[in-house]
Amino acid sequence: MPELHRCYRGSRCTHHETDPDYPTIKRGAPINAAEGLCDACTRHLRQAIVDMPRDYLDLETTIAGTRDGLRQLVAGTPELPVPISLTIASVQAELLHEAQCWAESTAEVLGVWWDTQKTQRSRPGVVLERAKHVLTGGLSAFLALRNVVHTGWVFDCWTTLDRDGLDGALVLLDLHYRARALTGQRRLVNHLPVPCPNCDHMALIREDGDETIECRACAQRYTQDEYERSCTLLARVERAA
Ligand SMILES: [Zn+2]
Ligand SMILES: [Zn+2]
Repeated sequence: MPELHRCYRGSRCTHHETDPDYPTIKRGAPINAAEGLCDACTRHLRQAIVDMPRDYLDLETTIAGTRDGLRQLVAGTPELPVPISLTIASVQAELLHEAQCWAESTAEVLGVWWDTQKTQRSRPGVVLERAKHVLTGGLSAFLALRNVVHTGWVFDCWTTLDRDGLDGALVLLDLHYRARALTGQRRLVNHLPVPCPNCDHMALIREDGDETIECRACAQRYTQDEYERSCTLLARVERAA
């Protein structure tokens, strides 16, 4: 029997499975390549990269909101919720740093232009837009990176890290979820009453102000047109049944 390869996200894989021999252990979905992400996790990663500039802005808005909250609190309470704004600022800094690290390494492999000096002087929004283009355009090159050396913070120590593109994928996915967790409550989420046409889970949502509909189970995205078409199809199938 050929060796079974699994999604690099392991227990956090979108389609993780329970180990048949150890029911408490979750393993990544089976994949064909020796190393990599499953299709669903790859779609989640692409979305996390596309959302980087927006995540950064949402965090900015959340910090501003915390400051307003602080001003109102100052009069009455001696204990101020300062740590929350520090947490948000550190996620912002990490997002900007990691996006630059991985975009620079990917740009190098692809032979596209990435000016580190200029980037350091640019506004975060501009840097993240450019990183988004490099990383989505060269997604497979990004995932195929091996033994790239970056500097970064590990437990409050500035240190040198030797990492693979797949580690970068996990870092960017994790930052996306942390950003969402910190800002998520700010956006109204509408749950849609039909199953996802791709994976059949009742997990379709539309965030306030968004034009697209997203499945939280498989990360498939739909335009309004596609969504309406699938609803019409669903209604026909139910009538026929
Ligand atoms: Zn996966
Ligand atoms: Zn789905």
